Amino acid sequence: MSEGIEIPEEQLKNDVCKVMRNLFNRGMVSALGGNVSARVPNAKEFWITPSGIFKGELTPDDLIKLDLDGNVIEGFGRPSIEWPLHAAVYKVRPDVNAVVHAHNPVTLGLALAGIGLKPITVEAVMVLRRVEVVPFAFPGTDQLAKLVAEKASTGARALILQNHGIIAMGANLYEAEAIAETLEEVAMAQFVSMTLGKEPPVIPEREVELYYKLYKLG
Ligand code: 13P
Ligand code: ZN
Repeated sequence: MSEGIEIPEEQLKNDVCKVMRNLFNRGMVSALGGNVSARVPNAKEFWITPSGIFKGELTPDDLIKLDLDGNVIEGFGRPSIEWPLHAAVYKVRPDVNAVVHAHNPVTLGLALAGIGLKPITVEAVMVLRRVEVVPFAFPGTDQLAKLVAEKASTGARALILQNHGIIAMGANLYEAEAIAETLEEVAMAQFVSMTLGKEPPVIPEREVELYYKLYKLG
């Protein structure tokens, strides 16, 4: 799957299930936690995982297609309660075609301790780029969707939802999954280093700036 190539909807639905399964197998969501969505190419619609169903074994028939106002276009069952925040991201970020919401335990633990993620690995620099923290709001509320939209519109690729979890936004599903996984990997590396009583060395700012300039990122 790559940016710019149109994915048939059946494959898109399969990939949503695969990403959700990967997150479950990696311990980034519990049996009923987290949700994943993907924008339908060239349409104001997206496929999203259902609410209240075991997330480790979803099949394409479990998914629900919504428009950006939350109207059901296709599918049975209840869409994720977090559909408002997925829709909000698609509205403010035309570059985003897939959204992952997970409950990354180590990322969350550091955020709860008030410790920000640092550019300590090449992946943190290359994959995460900018991470923003969203203040607490209850899951599934318009208030949470509003706060997420505000932070997403800054161009961040990942958001930490305080007292809750994370949001990863990618050009495609695997990019969004990679961002969610990288968050947890970087948080774990930082946690290990700090637990050993060492402040991890960061990649120098001038190197980061040079990298972003070279690849026109930022
Ligand atoms: P859903 O099962 O409704 O997607 O909710 C899970 C979750 O993580 C809520 O924040
Ligand atoms: Zn959640």
